[in-house]
Amino acid sequence: MNVTELFGSNVFNDEAMKNLLPKEVYKSLRKTIDEGKSLDTNIASVVANAMKDWAVSKGATHYTHWFQPLTNLTAEKHDSFIEPSGDRVIMQLTGKNLIVGEPDASSFPSGGSRATSAARGYTAWDPTSPAFVKEGTLYIPTVFVSYTGETLDKKAPLLKSMTAIDMQAKRLLKLFGIECRKVSTTVGPEQEYFLVDEEVYSQRKDLQLTGRTLFGAPPSRGQELEDHYFGSLKTRVAEYMKDLDETLWSYGIFAKTKHNEVAPAQHELAPVFTTSNVAVDDNQLTMELMKKVAKKHGLVCLLHEKPFEGVNGSGKHNNWSLSTDTGINLLDPGDTPEKNDRFMLILACIVSAVDQYQGILRASVASAGNDHRLGANEAPPAIISVYLGDQLGAIVDSIVLGREYVPKQAVPGSIGVPESPIFPIDTTDRNRTSPFAFTGNKFEFRMLGSQASVADPNIVLNTIAAQAFADAVEALSGAKDFGKACRAYAEKLFKEHYRIIFNYNGYGPDWEPEAERRGLLNNKTTADAVPAFFGRESIDVFLRQGVYTEKEVVARANIALENYIKTINVEALTMIEMAKQDIYPAVNGYIAEICSVVAAKRAVSEKIACEKDVALAERLARDNEAMMNAVEKLETDLLEMPEGNGPASQKMAHVIVPDMEEVRRCADGMERLCASGYWPFPVYTDLMYSVK
Ligand code: ADP
Ligand code: MG
Repeated sequence: MNVTELFGSNVFNDEAMKNLLPKEVYKSLRKTIDEGKSLDTNIASVVANAMKDWAVSKGATHYTHWFQPLTNLTAEKHDSFIEPSGDRVIMQLTGKNLIVGEPDASSFPSGGSRATSAARGYTAWDPTSPAFVKEGTLYIPTVFVSYTGETLDKKAPLLKSMTAIDMQAKRLLKLFGIECRKVSTTVGPEQEYFLVDEEVYSQRKDLQLTGRTLFGAPPSRGQELEDHYFGSLKTRVAEYMKDLDETLWSYGIFAKTKHNEVAPAQHELAPVFTTSNVAVDDNQLTMELMKKVAKKHGLVCLLHEKPFEGVNGSGKHNNWSLSTDTGINLLDPGDTPEKNDRFMLILACIVSAVDQYQGILRASVASAGNDHRLGANEAPPAIISVYLGDQLGAIVDSIVLGREYVPKQAVPGSIGVPESPIFPIDTTDRNRTSPFAFTGNKFEFRMLGSQASVADPNIVLNTIAAQAFADAVEALSGAKDFGKACRAYAEKLFKEHYRIIFNYNGYGPDWEPEAERRGLLNNKTTADAVPAFFGRESIDVFLRQGVYTEKEVVARANIALENYIKTINVEALTMIEMAKQDIYPAVNGYIAEICSVVAAKRAVSEKIACEKDVALAERLARDNEAMMNAVEKLETDLLEMPEGNGPASQKMAHVIVPDMEEVRRCADGMERLCASGYWPFPVYTDLMYSVK
């Protein structure tokens, strides 16, 4: 199959619907998809039947309602199409089977929003994300809600947040005389990952149980030579990427760019952007397929945010924009943004929303894994700020400081090579250090962890932007001189929220104290970041935009804290096991070897030098003892966990994590001293350079 035939061949996409559905049914379904009109239930059975026939022609025997419970993973329960018919069976998918399912909800996290006795959960078809066939099963994307109507997943609130921003953006556009049927948010997530050899991976308990290495001294060669970034691909990696691209294309996922990343064994994949809802589903499927395809190549794909200490971790840049069904990108500044009232107002609204709700934006990307990146010297810092670039930065400065704005000419330049054609140099350089950067016609939210669902931050982004638009509509409706009122309102927002704008180096040592002076939040751990959700203002914004009920916000914040506590707990237990069962005996074995060497040397002659041997044995014995003391402290602290997610998460962040760092410090020191044959598992060099 060539690529154009391959693309989307496993998807019940628009083309399939157009070909297989009666015209009227197709039109009605399109209305639901494009305009959010509620689904005409009469057509469900026709769609179900066509979908089933199509899936069966692709070799499917089962179907599943595919949903996104409050983990970072997806869930599925497979039912076969077969129905008894006399002595035989027929293949059937009824309208009802398509529209609702009823998986038992009791074993999914609900954060206390549902009593365990109330196990009923419903999945309901989301026609805005296309169904697909994978490994003999028809996957039907669905939302997941409880018997009492509480949402139990990430898709339902995402869809609600998209509806909120659609409504508010349309109201805002109306003030500018622009009518459209729909404003959609679009997302393009850039996904980073590591690849290691399966053989080496299988010898590391920590990687298998926690997704990251809990021990490991930095390798002699890390990323300092800067030769991996965009470097040529190793054959095995190239073959993996080709296989992955083709697999993703068959599911209609626009995998577009791929390259080596900064750290050894690190890579990136970026799809072409699409509507948020589909982008989230696609990213979930992408992560799953990245792992599956790796297995076929004898590789393991690590999606953890920090598989290796000392080299860069993995993130996921969330490129986010807004556009109308008539094709206007609302974040396109045009050639003269300073004269573009609509753009400047929308920009002001977003800047104000990010400042006002910085706490929940930060909280939406908080996880145990991501704590290793944010605040360290690689990912954007844990402080939220907005980068606008030279041009917009200068315009906003002029508004706030009351100076005249003198536009810089976009220089028609050349890259200095005589043969290369002249091209206009961008009006803004890239700033890699900003957590929330304007990049031409979109914002790039760069704080996401690599294994997280993209849904969480987008729910928050859409909700807070919708609220800012709603506030603008309220302030500007009925203004006598709309243009003047609009500029004045944007100016007011820029002035009130100027502190969030930071156009310089976010990694620099000056930024933290400067941010503190500005009163910006700097929540470095999940335990400190997540409580922002419990604040009155945070709960209210979700309520006002109809995205969550109060109970749902609280439940989700609790789940985030519970996840954090459980993750650190598993890491701590794994660490204790490895220290006691693998490292301690291995080091003792090496000490015994040294001692027998010393004894042998002494037996030959008292004159043979043994000083170094003795010193090394003594040092290792001391360090091994120190490690066991650190392990004991960790064990004791784990036993005394306070009640409640708040205090327990605090203890994890500020007692258990430092305890673990101490155990690791002792072990990594010994790894450097131990003969390589004695160390009980593969070290960093083996892991990072395992793929030849
Ligand atoms: P970077 O320079 O950050 O590595 P890439 O070109 O790798 O940039 O990725 C940019 C991402 O932004 C791609 O996924 C792209 O599809 C996405 N993108 C481009 N335009 C938009 C838009 N209007 N809305 C959302 N995402 C967009
Ligand atoms: Mg990027």
